[in-house]
Amino acid sequence: MANSEALRVYAAEDALEKSSPTRALSMADATAWITTIAENEDSDPPALVRQKMSSDLLGLAFSDEWCIAVRKAKPTQLLLLHELAHLACANKGHGAEFQQQLVEYVRKYVSITHAAELAQLLKLNQCRAASGKHRPESWGYPTRMPSSLLTRQGLRPLLRNRFLHLLNPETFHRDL
Ligand SMILES: [Zn+2]
Repeated sequence: MANSEALRVYAAEDALEKSSPTRALSMADATAWITTIAENEDSDPPALVRQKMSSDLLGLAFSDEWCIAVRKAKPTQLLLLHELAHLACANKGHGAEFQQQLVEYVRKYVSITHAAELAQLLKLNQCRAASGKHRPESWGYPTRMPSSLLTRQGLRPLLRNRFLHLLNPETFHRDL
C-alpha cells in the first residue's frame, strides 16, 4: 500500500514531528478543529472516528464516507491535516498535488515555520529520489530555506535524523 512517494512523505512528516512537534489533540478537540478548518475551506466537515487498523498506519481518509479514522486517541495536528489533504485531493496518492495541499494546510493552520520546514524536507527527499517528476519549483514555495530557519536549534538534529533515515530506509513507515 505504501509506495515510495508515500514513504518520502511519511519520512518528512516524522522528521518535522521530531524537530517541531505539532499538538496532539483529544478526539473532541480534534473534531472541533477539523470542523473549523472544513468550514474555512468551504467543504463539509468530515466525521472523525477512532478505529482499529494495522500498526503501521496512524490514520485513514475515506472520501466515500467523508470520514477520517485514526488509530490513536490523541491524533496530532499534522496527522489530521494529512488526512484532510487526502479528502481535498482528487488524486488519492501522495504525489505533488497532495504534498502541495498538505504544506498549504500546515501553513494556514499550524504555522508558516512548520510549513517552510515541511516543504524543505519534502524537497530534500525528492532531490534524493531524483525522480524529476514533481519539481519543487512547481509547488509555489521558496526553494531556499528562509534565513530565519538556519539559526533554529532544531535544524541540526533535523538534518541528522534525515541522514539516519538514509541509512535505515525501512524506518520510513508510520509506526510510532
Ligand atoms: Zn496518506
